[in-house]
Amino acid sequence: MNAAQPIVLHARGDTELARRLRKAVAGSVLFDAASRGRYSTDASIYQIEPLGVLVPSNDDDVAAAMDVCRELRVPVLARGAGSSQCGQTVGAALVIDHSKHIRRVLDFDRDAMTVTVEPGLVLDALNAYLRPHGLWFPVDVSTSAQATLGGMAGNNSCGSRSIAYGNMVHNVCAIDARLADGTTARFGTAAEMAGAPPRVRELVGRLAAIGARERDAIEANVPKVMRRVGGYNVDVFHPQSERPYTRDGTLNYAHLLVGSEGTLAWTRSLTLQLARLPAHRALGVVNFPSLYRAMECAQSIVKLAPSAVELVDRTMIGLARGNPAFRPIVDGALIGEPEAILLTEFIGDSADAPARKLDGLVALMADLGLPGSVVRMTDAGAQKALWDVRKAGLNIMMSMRGDGKPVSFIEDCAVPLEHLAEYVDRLTQVFAKHGTRGTWYAHASVGTLHVRPILDMRRGGAAKMRAIAEEASAMVREYKGAYSGEHGDGLVRSEWVAWQFGPRLARAFDEVKDLFDPDRLMNPGKIVRPTKMDDASLFRYPPGYRTLPLATALDWSAWNVDNDPVTDTLTAPGTGGDPAGGFAKAVEMCNNNGHCRKFDAGTMCPSYRVTRDEEHLTRGRANTLRLALAGRFGDDFASEPVRAALDLCVSCKGCRRDCPTGVDMAKMKIEFLYHWQRAHGLPLKDRAIASMPRWAPWAARLPWLANLRDTMPGAAQLSEAIAGLSAKRTLPRFRRDAFLRDGALPQDSAADAVLFVDTFTNYFEPDNARAALDVLQAAGYRVHVARPSAQDAEPSRPLCCGRTFLAGGLVDDAKREARRMLAALGPHVDRGATVVGLEPSCLLTLRDEFLSMGFGEAAQRLSQQALLVEEFLARESRAGRLRLPLARLPQKRALVHGHCHQKAFDAIAPTLAVLKLVPDLAVDAIESSCCGMAGSFGYEAAHYDVSMRMAELALLPAVRAAAADTLIVADGTSCRHQIADGTRANGRRQAMHAVQVLARAVRAARSNEGATR
Ligand SMILES: Cc1cc2nc3c(=O)[nH]c(=O)nc-3n(C[C@H](O)[C@H](O)[C@H](O)COP(=O)(O)OP(=O)(O)OC[C@H]3O[C@@H](n4cnc5c(N)ncnc54)[C@H](O)[C@@H]3O)c2cc1C
Ligand code: SF4
Ligand code: SF4
Repeated sequence: MNAAQPIVLHARGDTELARRLRKAVAGSVLFDAASRGRYSTDASIYQIEPLGVLVPSNDDDVAAAMDVCRELRVPVLARGAGSSQCGQTVGAALVIDHSKHIRRVLDFDRDAMTVTVEPGLVLDALNAYLRPHGLWFPVDVSTSAQATLGGMAGNNSCGSRSIAYGNMVHNVCAIDARLADGTTARFGTAAEMAGAPPRVRELVGRLAAIGARERDAIEANVPKVMRRVGGYNVDVFHPQSERPYTRDGTLNYAHLLVGSEGTLAWTRSLTLQLARLPAHRALGVVNFPSLYRAMECAQSIVKLAPSAVELVDRTMIGLARGNPAFRPIVDGALIGEPEAILLTEFIGDSADAPARKLDGLVALMADLGLPGSVVRMTDAGAQKALWDVRKAGLNIMMSMRGDGKPVSFIEDCAVPLEHLAEYVDRLTQVFAKHGTRGTWYAHASVGTLHVRPILDMRRGGAAKMRAIAEEASAMVREYKGAYSGEHGDGLVRSEWVAWQFGPRLARAFDEVKDLFDPDRLMNPGKIVRPTKMDDASLFRYPPGYRTLPLATALDWSAWNVDNDPVTDTLTAPGTGGDPAGGFAKAVEMCNNNGHCRKFDAGTMCPSYRVTRDEEHLTRGRANTLRLALAGRFGDDFASEPVRAALDLCVSCKGCRRDCPTGVDMAKMKIEFLYHWQRAHGLPLKDRAIASMPRWAPWAARLPWLANLRDTMPGAAQLSEAIAGLSAKRTLPRFRRDAFLRDGALPQDSAADAVLFVDTFTNYFEPDNARAALDVLQAAGYRVHVARPSAQDAEPSRPLCCGRTFLAGGLVDDAKREARRMLAALGPHVDRGATVVGLEPSCLLTLRDEFLSMGFGEAAQRLSQQALLVEEFLARESRAGRLRLPLARLPQKRALVHGHCHQKAFDAIAPTLAVLKLVPDLAVDAIESSCCGMAGSFGYEAAHYDVSMRMAELALLPAVRAAAADTLIVADGTSCRHQIADGTRANGRRQAMHAVQVLARAVRAARSNEGATR
């Protein structure tokens, strides 16, 4: 049978499969179109719909599922984070995603420095576990926060420091595997194999026979570079790698499974060799006048025994400098305007050793004719920051708009260092010949440079891909390199396995496959019996790819562009030919790299952090939207699968900031909800919440009535039954003394600051607005409290940013509110005043959604002059203009939780900065994601549990751990509510707006002054 042909399903098809699986397993069996769609892509250019998806609860589930699949002759495809770049994890199979549940550390031997883990454990999680012991697993892939160890072994992954530590194959001691026929065995040394079941002993004997028979072919055809990850590692029998797979040169059968991409066996657990964490590191950044010189010098630099030599070229430097977060870091590493830099790291147990090597690097560069070209970095923080920029390399590159994208297919060829400069030069010329260009970066130390020519797979990309691949492969052969040097074979390179290893070894690979998996059920079509790399039927965006036309509510034209790969220019907004006005192209910015599957710093993505479900991940949502726009759920974009995928999105805008390609799911959710509510209507409860700014003035007049829900016994339960508002929550309380009802609010047409008081602050916490006014005036600013313009149709109703309307998808209503705002604030903005606000989600709407509503220049100007009150004060302070009298408070510490939108707009640093102006106040930020309340989200009964779990990730434990006299600061109304609710059981903590802390310090200063008078 040819594995390129689809496996013939049992007559009863996948429905039978689903039914059987549901009976056999405890985990989630996902066979709906949306789930299958979400698992039909990885970080490659391909898309194949799986037959179904299983998220197993444990290893028994995997065993049961494989039994069912064997009986029904259905292929199985193991999947971790799905961050493969070559299409390894897509296929017409049952996809088994072990990343959610199968991720324990099973055994840790500190003395032997080994650890045994389940395949779904993520590398960063393992290294966090090992850090206290001074150890780490040193295969430091760029995707360390996502990559599972099972997936890393599957791909024989390699990190930036492979020159010092090797690839996966050099660091795996044993693999506990399950074969397609259900046999389980530990694959390891020959001695370990002696105790294996008879089926495995026989298998091993026949493998050894193939090894013996093919000795000549192995020696002749397996590239002798360390970075060779293509094909099967038959060189376990006759080592060819520059770096031996085992320290003592003995044979280890686990190494045959490493890099086999799930085609030979299922990895149940892996035993890994650990390394000591280097005590000291030093980084030398060598600046080069040309890429060629950088590549030429790499071979001399590696002789200094660095732990890494990583290239970053001019284009990448430029892209990184375009990112405000990265710019200062990159600038600190540059001397003038280099064409390329090499990040050269040295490690050692004492500070001396790396420092000496760094001296050696400086001397070497002088000898090579480049004196003064090295920036020395010995500070650990500065080094880490620069490494983070390097790690973000690919993602930075992928943020390119338009249909032309950098495509992975020759992105990891490995060539011996002496040929590197020539290889780069020649390949650059090949790109130019085909009307494209590439950006060069990554592992110069081992001759594996990442480069992705920009191709449009919808328009002629496939032909160019093949033409470039042919020329690149010819060069790789000429230089005796490896065509697949890091990311594996998958769908894009398996076709080249026979080319690389020759027909004899290719036949041997077939035999190996058949010995392990005679029915060819394990991830068919990869490594052996492959499809063609340019088979357009497997592309995510094949020629002729179409999306549904859509009249969008928001302006997406900035994405509706084409790019020119050579000149790196974009066409004008709106000219990209997207029938969805740019929305589809914005959605397509998600390249499936999986960066949103993260648990470390940053906000993205709270719903994934608590569910670990692909559906509730930014990537899963972007894929669901993409599939809907491609008509995969019918002609109606406003379809149920999209609603379900967006249901737990708390619109935190974490992805807007943290997603490397800028996928802004919060904005996409608004767009979707607009279409949804037009097609399906909005439930009364949602409409009531959305239009709160309209009825709030009445509620504030009769607060006892408006607050009845929380004062009358049984009313909360009733509200849950009728309106879906959780009875476990109290609701914000309307205050009779709303701020904007105060009689003598300053109205000043020459004010420096125009105070915009949002609906929440005005009606629920008016004291915050009073505090802001007090602080601004105490600092000597002239303040004007924003009121509707004289021409406003509802002059007595306070201004509103429209946030609640946007959250319900009522974009037309939100636009109406925005128009009122622009009319009232525009004249102040035009004369240069700053609009100052308190509630991050409201004020920052002026800097975000207002720009997508078609208000042009007026909205632009407002967005540039709208600041949170702390941003305003911090700006004034930086400019040396702030004269704010602040005195010591009784409390000595403030713990700050940033609102998600504050974080998304880098507005948390100013809050910390101004709080630090209070004498003797220690200010720390809580490293937290979303508080989980997110507007009305956490109040809804259906979301209550998820909401609390989000809060429990980091925020609530940090608040509970804080000393009783620590000030808890949170600028978001809902964050404060969540903190109060979440600490109810253990002595409720009341968080306060930062401006309240400042106001207290101002009052303290006044009373000090009064006392001294
Ligand atoms: C932005 C970006 C940067 C990257 N940087 C690097 C890098 O620095 N170095 C590098 O080497 N790679 C890199 N990669 C590629 C990829 O991240 C790595 O190969 C990673 O190790 C894959 O891990 P995963 O959990 O996503 O595996 P997946 O993609 O889910 O799976 C990888 C392979 O392993 C198989 N597999 C998974 N689990 C099992 C199991 N239990 N049993 C048997 N087979 C299994 C799968 O079938 C598949 O063939 C990068 C990718 C991206 C998108
Ligand atoms: S949403 Fe962003 S971070 Fe997540 S996979 Fe897509 S591009 Fe990557
Ligand atoms: S807005 Fe927040 S919850 Fe929604 S996808 Fe982005 S990071 Fe996740």
